[in-house]
Parts: sequence; C-alpha cells; structure tokens
Amino acid sequence: MTMQTSHEVAIKKPPTTPSTSLENLTNIIDDALKNQHFSMVYQPLFSMQSSKLTGFEALVRCQSPQFGFISPDKFIPHAERNGQIIELGDWIFKQVLLDLKRYLQYGLKDITVSINVSAVQIAETNVFEQIMSLVDKLEIPTRCIKLELTETALIKNPQIIAKVFNAFQQEGIQVWVDDFGTGFASLSLLREFKINGLKIDKSFVDGIATCNEDFTLCSAIIAMAQRLGMHIVAEGIENEIQLQILNQLGCDTAQGYLLGRPVSIDENLSRWGHS
Ligand code: C2E
Ligand code: CA
Ligand code: CA
Repeated sequence: MTMQTSHEVAIKKPPTTPSTSLENLTNIIDDALKNQHFSMVYQPLFSMQSSKLTGFEALVRCQSPQFGFISPDKFIPHAERNGQIIELGDWIFKQVLLDLKRYLQYGLKDITVSINVSAVQIAETNVFEQIMSLVDKLEIPTRCIKLELTETALIKNPQIIAKVFNAFQQEGIQVWVDDFGTGFASLSLLREFKINGLKIDKSFVDGIATCNEDFTLCSAIIAMAQRLGMHIVAEGIENEIQLQILNQLGCDTAQGYLLGRPVSIDENLSRWGHS
C-alpha cells in the first residue's frame, strides 16, 4: 500500500515545568477553564485500503501561561479524580461539535470525529442528553460522531456504560473501545456491549515489527474483531514497516505520527478542506 507520509516536522513541545505539583494542577485546570487555556487538536485517520482520510481524533491540549504545555496524560487523570473532568468534558464536547460542524461546512462531508469520553462523565453526568442536545442544535449528522472509551474504564462500570452506549448507538453514534489490549476485557463483555470498533493500543503497534508476542497479539485482535464484525484502528503508527504489517493483517484504519500529527482545525482545513 502506498500512503502519503506526513511532511510535518517534529513538533517541539514547550518544556513542561516540573513544579506542576498535584495541588497546583487543580488550580491550573481551574484557571485554564476560566481563561481558555484549553484547546483542541485533531489527528487524522486513514483508510488502509484506499489511503483516504476517514476522519480525526479530537485531543485536548492545555497551554498554561505560567507552566507551559501540560500533557493530557497528566491533567486528564487528575481531572477525573477530582471531578473537574465534568466541566472540562462539557467544554470538550461543545468545542469538538462546533469544530465538526466547521469540518462539514468545509466540504469534509464523509469524515467522522472521535471524541474521548471519560468513565466519570458517563457515571456522573447525562452525557447522552448533553451530546444529543448539541447534535440537534448544530444539526450534525450522528453518523459523523464516534465516542472512545478506554478498555479499563469499560470494565469498571459495565452496566451503566452498556446502557449509555446502547442509547448512543440507537441514535447512530458509534462507540469504540480505546487502548484495546491493555485492560483485560473479556470477549463476552465485548459481545454484550455491541461495540462498533476497537483501537489497538500503541504499545502493541510499537513492537509489531520487532517482538513476536506483539505481532501475535495484534494479529489475534484483528482476526477476532473481524469475526465479531467490529472495525479496527491501529494507533501510534510511526514507521512504514508497522503500517505494512498492519495492512497485511487486515487492519481497517491507520493513525499515527507517520501519517499525521494532531494539529489545529485550521491546519487540518487548509490541508484537507475542499472549500
Ligand atoms: P489516547 O486517547 O490513546 O490518544 C492517543 C495519544 O497518542 C495522543 O496523545 C496522541 O497524540 C498520541 N499519538 C498518536 N499517534 C502517535 C504516534 O505515532 N506516536 C506517539 N508517540 N504518540 C502518538 P495525547 O494527545 O497526549 O493524549 C494522551 C491521552 O490523554 C489520550 O490517549 C487520552 O487518554 C487522553 N485525552 C486526550 N484528549 C482527551 C480528551 O479530549 N478527553 C479525554 N477524556 N481524554 C483525552
Ligand atoms: Ca483515544
Ligand atoms: Ca488510545
């Protein structure tokens, strides 16, 4: 398969200041919510078969004037622990759906945008009504929306999550399991959830060309997903060999720095937009 590789130069992340201690982090998140230090970036996803752009994953960024760039790997788990994820998640939904409306207006009619949802949001807020009221207000086709929940989160609260997922699917919104392979979800749980797709965790993709176990796991996950009628995205693809192997194994969709880094909606529109 030939796929155009990204010509973007490696993005230099501003240094993260080590003094962002936990109590600080709560204040930083509060401050960021009040003063709009959060923004969204979008990483492209491509069909393995056609090499065409299929959509984007929405990823949140925090740029504190005082502490510089703070990784979501750091502030998302913190915000989940202290409940700030509710307000942050609310902002993320609004921003992403407004941006999705813009992508559609720029002629990217067939794309989907994947939104990461936290288990806390599902357990403690009415994510279904929240998203559906935005979808109605903005007149967004539900087929353009995918929700991602990590495998670990799925296992923690299966009953509530199954109910919410079902409601979304009835409306045509897809639900996906993120970081698949890291959380020990049973196969029967997957069947019960009627998941639309799985994202193979980057840690397996990393070793696919060099580690027998990772190769075996990836091929087993892909074969299983195919049998269960689920789609598969491989994330974190950084080189051509990984891409080729995943393509040969029958993986549907590719995501990773090799193909495109997460960038702002404006950058994506100037690269992929039609009008
Ligand atoms: P994730 O959902 O698994 O997102 C994929 C992460 O892998 C992103 O990191 C992305 O930038 C990174 N990535 C993609 N391709 C490559 C690659 O080829 N190489 C490498 N080294 N990394 C790659 P990011 O944006 O730092 O996000 C980290 C995690 O923070 C996400 O992992 C997700 O769990 C969480 N997160 C990010 N944005 C949101 C959000 O809007 N809501 C929620 N609830 N969580 C989010
Ligand atoms: Ca994700
Ligand atoms: Ca992931």
